[in-house]
Amino acid sequence: MRFLDPYLADTDLTALSATERLRWAWEAFGDKAAIGTSFQGAGLVAIHLARSAGLDFPIFTLDTGLLFPETVALKARLETFWGVRIEELEPALDVEAQERHIGPELWKNDPDLCCTLRKVEPLRLRLKSADCWITGLRREQSSVRAGTGVLEKHQLNGAADRFLWKLNPLADWTRDAVWQFIRENQIPYNPLHDRGYHSIGCAVCTRPTGAGGDERAGRWTGFKKTECGIHTFTKKVESGDRKPETPEIPEPPSI
Ligand code: SF4
Repeated sequence: MRFLDPYLADTDLTALSATERLRWAWEAFGDKAAIGTSFQGAGLVAIHLARSAGLDFPIFTLDTGLLFPETVALKARLETFWGVRIEELEPALDVEAQERHIGPELWKNDPDLCCTLRKVEPLRLRLKSADCWITGLRREQSSVRAGTGVLEKHQLNGAADRFLWKLNPLADWTRDAVWQFIRENQIPYNPLHDRGYHSIGCAVCTRPTGAGGDERAGRWTGFKKTECGIHTFTKKVESGDRKPETPEIPEPPSI
């Protein structure tokens, strides 16, 4: 299978533009590469760049059943804007069933478990059929994300021989660059961003933070939690965001 080719481990995409990085993924993986988005700014840019370049990646989003109405409405607006269908990944239990089986308002008592059930598990199932996961992660978003590589190799949780490539084409973009692009291209975005929300997740776990500071500071207030787990449940094996150390390694495929 092509995604297991050893030369990919040292592929260096850092000098390429975001569009070129996406084009590389399309040539390497085709529709086995998929864009995952929660409709934050960088995800919108990645999808727009891909669509503009004719790269027909599948697009998916996590519908936890606890999203803001504005987020749900935005999905429909974006589908019309880009002329695409955005696949919804849903948890095994709807919110009512989770309450019956585990207890009410799990996010207040055990947000890690809640995120695992409502986000991580549906994503893990979807990624089983993908070779490359394209994200909107940016280094500038938080200290936890500062080490994000443009291309990373990950091991899927619980599968020692199952590798997944993670492409973060906007890893080195600033927040200002993202929003300039969105405005210039008139891409629909979540109106909550204009009301002080920087990072938008489930309604019950997100609050506005105003200008400046850590972009993810408004998530899970009162807990030491800064990540929902979707970007930490895979094990990063080796960063592809670096120069090859051994000159005999073959060149990456042409862009
Ligand atoms: S963000 Fe909150 S409500 Fe949403 S899955 Fe995580 S803990 Fe549950």
